[in-house]
Amino acid sequence: MLTLLTAALFPPIVAADGQSGPDAFAQLDYLLDTPTETRLASGAPGPQYWQQRADYRIDVKIDDRAQRIIGSETITYHNQSPHTLRYLWLQLDQNRFRRDSDDMLTKTAPDFAHFPYKSMANLLTRQAFDGGVTIKAVQDGSGKALAYTVNKTMMRVELPQPLAGGAQFAFSVDWEHNIIDATAVGARGGYEYFEQDENYLYEIAQWYPRLAAYTDYQGWQNKQFLGNGEFTLELGTFEVAITVPADHVVAATGVLQNPDEVLSRKQRERYQAAQASSEQRFIVTPDEAKKNASSRTSVEKTWRFKAENVRDFAFASSRKFIWDARMAKSGAREVLAMSFYPNEAEPLWSQYSTPAIAHTIDVYSRYTFEYPYPVAISVNGPVGGMEYPMISFNKPRPYSDGTYWDVRQKSEDKTWERSKYGLISVIIHEVGHNYFPMVVNSDERQWTWMDEGLNTFLQFVTEQAWEEDYPSRRGEPANIVEYMVSTPQVPIMTNSESIHQFGNNAYAKPATALNILRESIMGRELFDYAFREFATRWQFKRPTPADFFRTMEDASAVDLDWFWRGWFYGTQHVDVAIENIALYQLDTGNPEVEKPWQQAEDEKQEPTLSQQRNADAQTLIQRYPQLRDFYNESDEFSVTPWDYAQYEQLQQSLTDREKALLNADKNFYAVTFKNIGGLVTPLPLRITYGDGKVEELQIPAEIWRRNAEQVTKLFVTEREITGIAFDPYRSTADANPANNAWPRQPKASRFKLFKEKEEPNPMRRNDKTQWEQPIL
Ligand SMILES: [Zn+2]
Repeated sequence: MLTLLTAALFPPIVAADGQSGPDAFAQLDYLLDTPTETRLASGAPGPQYWQQRADYRIDVKIDDRAQRIIGSETITYHNQSPHTLRYLWLQLDQNRFRRDSDDMLTKTAPDFAHFPYKSMANLLTRQAFDGGVTIKAVQDGSGKALAYTVNKTMMRVELPQPLAGGAQFAFSVDWEHNIIDATAVGARGGYEYFEQDENYLYEIAQWYPRLAAYTDYQGWQNKQFLGNGEFTLELGTFEVAITVPADHVVAATGVLQNPDEVLSRKQRERYQAAQASSEQRFIVTPDEAKKNASSRTSVEKTWRFKAENVRDFAFASSRKFIWDARMAKSGAREVLAMSFYPNEAEPLWSQYSTPAIAHTIDVYSRYTFEYPYPVAISVNGPVGGMEYPMISFNKPRPYSDGTYWDVRQKSEDKTWERSKYGLISVIIHEVGHNYFPMVVNSDERQWTWMDEGLNTFLQFVTEQAWEEDYPSRRGEPANIVEYMVSTPQVPIMTNSESIHQFGNNAYAKPATALNILRESIMGRELFDYAFREFATRWQFKRPTPADFFRTMEDASAVDLDWFWRGWFYGTQHVDVAIENIALYQLDTGNPEVEKPWQQAEDEKQEPTLSQQRNADAQTLIQRYPQLRDFYNESDEFSVTPWDYAQYEQLQQSLTDREKALLNADKNFYAVTFKNIGGLVTPLPLRITYGDGKVEELQIPAEIWRRNAEQVTKLFVTEREITGIAFDPYRSTADANPANNAWPRQPKASRFKLFKEKEEPNPMRRNDKTQWEQPIL
């Protein structure tokens, strides 16, 4: 279990490969934060738990001609910590798009051996883009300028007076920035331009100067944004007024405050009706959206939204949007599920988007808590898949002829953006992020896995509840093997910006680890209880990895330190081999039993080649019988009077209890397992007996606690064992199934013959007739 030893007393002395050997079961101790009354040793928030709060009032305008954001915000910062602050830090994520940003400067050269058009477009667009925030003013409540310093993607604002614990401070920031082309650059927000009808679709995110997190565990989270470590922010209330061309439709975090001002009468009626029904309906129909797309107006409208207890705010705007909605259940709560998408997204979106939202909040609420917000939104646009409170951006849409794939065709290709299950999965994933990290407010800039891994795990559970054999990409143990044996690899517990193989490391591996924990190590009942406890404890609070590790143990009485160490702090993989099986049977001492047994064993041994070939040759003693003596005549297996006497003596020396033990007719099978991969694992086994019976059992991973490289397990049975299989249900992520069976089974596979191709030689290249026909 997790104990309370401090780092000072027990400095980290673990070897680099301390995941195996006797260290595999060492307690985590010094790897975890020392518990405090803010964060308890149980993994729960403590009596002195505190967090800051930031409330925003924002006025923002989209300049649809210049693709530019013009904004002005007032932030009220509540210092709820016991500490006095002398300055505040804000995130300026848009500065990542400056040409001289650390993100740009630290990008290493691409792999020119594999350089897709997409990467070329990204590279050139980013070099040409005039990115970054222009800060126009920073002022206190009375309009007095505040001193500030921009350091790359962070901005420090000087407080006129130190801000004591319990006090609050209001200030305002005016800014502007250009919106990036998100079809060319893999960004979390941006625009898409539709050539056919000359329209823009905006997905606006990480767009306003946002108050950085100040926490009990690391002070200001002002680590620079390099592009991967998303963010962590303070919870608060947002009141946002979004000004856009009057023919645009806006989707945003929060609840629309002024439908009377921005919706037509017909739309208002439909909007009302949608909020009273679980039946999906259009608020803007596909035909209306088509008509909107060709309208142009110089008039503007302001959409007002309010959101409570959120850590961020995002929105989308376009005159191309179709809008559908229905009420969805999350436990006892009712939530307005809505989708916004252009006609280009049809027919997939009206069929699957809103049902996927409803399904997600239904399933997630069963494993965590009820969806706490009034709306849940999915928007189609240029952003691949990105989550914000109540709203998510999801890219997949069909081809222009309305056809689409079922699943992604190859692991790295873009067909997922044109596939049905690609769409359903990304919506489940992004809507699921409302739970992790929007409500369970982990620090994404530090730990990607805490939201992506936990969320991808529940995504798998939710996908499997969508339909039987849903083609989930991540979750099943066998799917993670290729990554687990790959190099280079870093532990899951690696800072977000330094991860190798981002998707595998921070999404797939932790999700699979949790699935293994649930199905094979803790069992569903213990796991689900502990996982729900973690989510509930940390609703609207900030958990760290230690809080998660500790809670899962605290609520289940399962010591998982070995599991966290191996899967989260290590890079080894599971590969167990059944190395050897030895059969031991009891020597009865009875010469009439033992001598024939020895004789039978002796006869099992086949004669050597020399013995066989010499069999017909006449030997010396055949020719001279006078050379024979006692030993040539006697049979070593014949029972002598001495043997009987020995047995008699033995019998007399035994108590009745000892006699019963001696007569127990048991087979002792000593099965040796070798841990080739290094990552310790439970041993799920299937044993087949000579009488055809099959038995399944699971040996806990603790069998490796004294020797993590090789263990021998004894099986005592009256029956004969004819076969043992390790991991019959592929539940451990074992990397090499070929060594999992005894006796070994040949692995069947098919191979293809390929036909050699030939290029025309230079002499033939000038003459079309030579290569338009097959070359013979
Ligand atoms: Zn995600």
